[in-house]
Amino acid sequence: MKRYLLAPGPTQVSPEVLLAMAQPILHHRAPEFQTLFKRVTEDIKWLYQTQNDVLILASTGTGGMDGSVSNFFSPGDHALVVNGGKFGERWTKICKAYGVIVEEIMVEWGHVVNPNQITAALQKDPSIKGVFVQASETSTGVAHPIREIGEIVKAYPGCLMVVDAVSALGVFDIQTDGWGIDIMVAGSQKALALPPGLSFVSISPKAWAQGEKAKNAKFYFNFKKEKDALATNQTAFTAPVSLIVGLDQSLKMMKEEGLANIFARSAKLALATREAMKAIGLKPYPKECPSDSVTAIEAPEGYDGEKIYKDLRVKYGITAAGGQDQLKGKVFRIANMGYIDTFDIIIAVAAVEMVLKGMGHPLKLGTGVGVAQEILLKK
Ligand SMILES: *Cc1c(COP(=O)(O)O)cnc(C)c1O
Repeated sequence: MKRYLLAPGPTQVSPEVLLAMAQPILHHRAPEFQTLFKRVTEDIKWLYQTQNDVLILASTGTGGMDGSVSNFFSPGDHALVVNGGKFGERWTKICKAYGVIVEEIMVEWGHVVNPNQITAALQKDPSIKGVFVQASETSTGVAHPIREIGEIVKAYPGCLMVVDAVSALGVFDIQTDGWGIDIMVAGSQKALALPPGLSFVSISPKAWAQGEKAKNAKFYFNFKKEKDALATNQTAFTAPVSLIVGLDQSLKMMKEEGLANIFARSAKLALATREAMKAIGLKPYPKECPSDSVTAIEAPEGYDGEKIYKDLRVKYGITAAGGQDQLKGKVFRIANMGYIDTFDIIIAVAAVEMVLKGMGHPLKLGTGVGVAQEILLKK
C-alpha cells in the first residue's frame, strides 16, 4: 500500500532534503561544518524575520520550550500562560516543573484568547515576568492573536513575550522583531519539512538580560553556552549534522519560494480543506481564527472521529491525526503545512469522502473534491 503522511507533525520530507541528508557524515568541528552552520543560522533568521540570536538545538520542539523556561525564569517567578489546548497546557507543566508560579488564562478549546485578558492579568499582577502562548494551537487548530499580545507585552520592560511557534513558523506571518517577540520556539518536523530532532529558539536582547538573573538549574539546554558556541559557528555539543544538512536544503527551498508565497500557499490549502469539508456537511472544529497549519474537523453527529482517522490509515494508507484528550473521537486533523501542495489536499479530501461513504454517511462522492479544486484553481 502506498503511504501518505498528512499529519500535523511529523510532516512529509521532500526528496531533495532526503537526498541531502544521505550524504556522508560531516564532523561537527570541521571548517566545512562551520561554513554550513553559519549559513543555516543566517537563513533561519530570515524565516524568523529577526535580527535576534536563533539557537539550533538537538531536541524536539518540547526541548526548546523547556530551555525557554529554565534559561530565563527563576523558581518563584510569576508567569502568565494562555491554556487553550494540549500545547498551552504544556507551557504550564514546564513552568511548574521549574518552580515558576503560573497564572493561567483558560481558553475554551476551539477559541482564541482575547488580548484584553492579557492586559487585565498584567495589570492585576505587575510582577509577571513572562507571557506564554501558542501561535498555532495544534490540538484545536486555532491561531492565537500573537501580534496583539506582543503589542501589549512590549509595554512591560520586566516581562517577556514567549511564543510556541512550533506549528506556525513557516506557515503564516509572524514578525519576531516587528511584534516584540522575545523568545520564539520552532521545530524541524512541522512546516520546515524535516525529520523530528531539531528545535529552534530566538532570543531578544531583553530576554538575554532577564536570563542573566535566572537561577534555575540547567546543563544540556544552557542557552548562554550555545550562544558562545554560535560565535564560532558551532554548537556546544555534537551537532546533529545530517539534520543540519537537511535544514540547509529545506531553507534553500523555502527561500526560493519566498515568505509571501509560502504563506499564500498554506492559506489556500487550508481554505480548500475547510471549504471542502463544509461542502460534505462536516464542520471545522475551530469556532474562530482557524490556523492555516492544520485543519481540525468535527466528526459528523453519530460518527466516531477516531474511526475516520483509523480508516484513512488502514484502508487508504493516509496518516492524518485524531483528536487529543477531550477531543478524542470527536475530531480528526489534516495538516496544511510544510512540503505539501494542491494534490495532497485533493487526496485528503477524496479519502475523507470515501471513508465516510464507507461508514454509511449520505454524501455525493466528489462534492468536497470539486469545491477544493475550485479554490485550488484560483491564483
Ligand atoms: C508539535 C508541537 C510541539 C512540539 O512537540 P515535540 O513532540 O516536542 O516536537 C510544541 N508545540 C506545538 C504547538 C506543536 O504543534
